[in-house]
Amino acid sequence: MIRTEETPPSGSRIFDWLKWGEDMLGCLPEGADRESREFLGELLEDPLAPWTRDKEVLPDSLSVRYREWIGRRRNREPFHLITGSVSFLEDRYEVVPGILIPRPETESLVAKVMDVFKSKSPSRILDLGCGSGILGISVLKRFPQSQCLSVDLMKPPLEVSRRNAIAQGVSSRIHFVQGDWTEMLRLGQGFDLVISNPPYISTGSLSSLDPEILFHEPREALDGGPDGLSFYRRLMAVLPDLLSPGGVAALEIGADQGDFFRSDEGCIPGCGSPLVFLDVLGRDRIVFWTKG
Ligand code: GLN
Repeated sequence: MIRTEETPPSGSRIFDWLKWGEDMLGCLPEGADRESREFLGELLEDPLAPWTRDKEVLPDSLSVRYREWIGRRRNREPFHLITGSVSFLEDRYEVVPGILIPRPETESLVAKVMDVFKSKSPSRILDLGCGSGILGISVLKRFPQSQCLSVDLMKPPLEVSRRNAIAQGVSSRIHFVQGDWTEMLRLGQGFDLVISNPPYISTGSLSSLDPEILFHEPREALDGGPDGLSFYRRLMAVLPDLLSPGGVAALEIGADQGDFFRSDEGCIPGCGSPLVFLDVLGRDRIVFWTKG
C-alpha cells in the first residue's frame, strides 16, 4: 500500500489510484474508502468502475482531476461541491457554493408528501427557501398537473434552481422569486402545499458544525435563530392565510425539535396541531399541518 503523498506514476491502474486516494483521505473522520471510490466513479462516469475496471489504466487527464479532487477533500471541502452534483431521490441535481447541499433525510419529506396527497395532486405549491430547488422540482416531477412558486433570499440558489428545473423538465411549471420569504403573504394565498426545509440550527450551535458545513454552506440556510425555531414561528403565524382549505404545510425540522411541535406551541388556529413524522433513521424530521 502506498503510504506517502507521492502519487502513483502515469500509467498506473485505477486500483493503484484508489489505494492512494483512500490513503490520502485517511485524515477525514470517516468515509475515506467510500469517498475515494465515489470520486473515481464520478470521474469515470460509472459508479461501478472502481470494482469492474480496477485493472485498467487511469488516463492522465482523469488522474490530474482525481489528484485535485482528493486535495480539495483533504481540506474539508464538501464532496458534492467538488463534484458539482448530488443525487436526490432518483435524480441528479447541480450544486454550487452558496446553497445548502441536499441531504438524504430530506428525501423523507417528499416521500411523505406523496403519501398524503396520493393521486389528488396539489394545484399550487409554494417552496420556501428553495436552495437547489430539489423540493419543488421533485414534487412537480411526481405531480404533472401542479405549478410551483419557489422563493429564496439569495441569487445563487435561484440561478441553480432554474438550471435544475430545466434539466428535470419542469421549468414551464415553476416560477422563481427572490425575496425574504418571511414576508410571505405578498406571494399570494390559496396554496395547496407549502413545502420547506428552513434553517433550523440554533445560532449558538453553528460553531460546532463540521468544517464542511461551517465553512462551505451558507449560514442563511442553516441559522434558525437563538433556539433554531425562528423561521417556524414566523411561518406558523401566516400559515392559515397562505393555505387553501384542506391545504398542507410540510416542513423539515431538526431531530431534536419534535417535542416543540407536539406541545401546545405547535398548535396553529385554523390548522390545529401538526403530525410529526420520523426520517428513515427513526429521528423526528417532518411536520405536517392541514388547514381545516
Ligand atoms: N440538515 C442540515 C444539517 O444537519 C440543516 C439544514 C437546515 O438547517 N435546514 O446540517
